[in-house]
Amino acid sequence: MDRYEIPARELKLARRDARADRTVVRLRSGVTFGGETLAICAGPCAVESAEQLDATARAVAQSGANVLRGGAFKPRTSPYAFQGLGERGLELLRASADRYGLAVVTEVLDPRDVPLVARYADMLQIGARNMQNFALLREVGASGAPVLLKRGLSATVEEWLMAAEYVLDAGNEHVVLCERGVRSFDAATRNLLDLSVVPLLADLTHLPVVVDPSHGTGVARLVEPMALAAVAAGADGILVEVHPEPGEAASDGPQSLRPQEFAALMGHLAGIAAAVGRRLPAASLAA
Ligand code: PEP
Ligand code: MN
Repeated sequence: MDRYEIPARELKLARRDARADRTVVRLRSGVTFGGETLAICAGPCAVESAEQLDATARAVAQSGANVLRGGAFKPRTSPYAFQGLGERGLELLRASADRYGLAVVTEVLDPRDVPLVARYADMLQIGARNMQNFALLREVGASGAPVLLKRGLSATVEEWLMAAEYVLDAGNEHVVLCERGVRSFDAATRNLLDLSVVPLLADLTHLPVVVDPSHGTGVARLVEPMALAAVAAGADGILVEVHPEPGEAASDGPQSLRPQEFAALMGHLAGIAAAVGRRLPAASLAA
């Protein structure tokens, strides 16, 4: 097969040869995506309470995560499911992250909420369901804040890179791509995690790439092996759901790791990272 290519007239800014160097996305807190040190984003699917979030933040910081994740605005399939704590959730994220020396990544669902979320968060997550919400992409682009752009539920690589192009075209070059699996015919896993995109994207774009094995598989047991494989494949980081009591989680319990399972994952990741010339963040002193 010929090499896969995207026409330069469509992908102007995100294409690999648009820049000499690869993009390194830096958060205010000094965390980098795309440098030698991996970005390790961990936390609950949703911010549920001060206690739940703080216990999780403390545990993941102790294990060496450098970014706290957690949804304050949740994109739920049912309008009757828990929708998130909203601004209160953002306040809790900021407080726990500051307590343990972490940065914050959290989802923004609505273009009108971009300034609000950007006040609390270091990085704005565009969820899979919103990957082609072009108004939202332009708004996060105009904000200038670092963006974590998840792959859409059934998005091709080209559609995903074009979504990144919207953010870059709005004047914001701080974009990180996040592979989180795509829909498939097979119900054995929640999604089909596409790890081949990691080296493929390294050829197609200068943007950093992280992998979310939690949504990518939907199964806690599969998260560690896929996180290790992602880093072995060259990912610039991982995004992992962690909950102190997965059985009680308001959302995504079956794919959430317990804190001790996340600690074990981090222990095993160190050797893989070293083998591919990367390293884990230094565990936060504040934890
Ligand atoms: C999430 O990260 O909690 C989330 C909703 O992810 P996705 O958009 O990939 O489904
Ligand atoms: Mn989730």
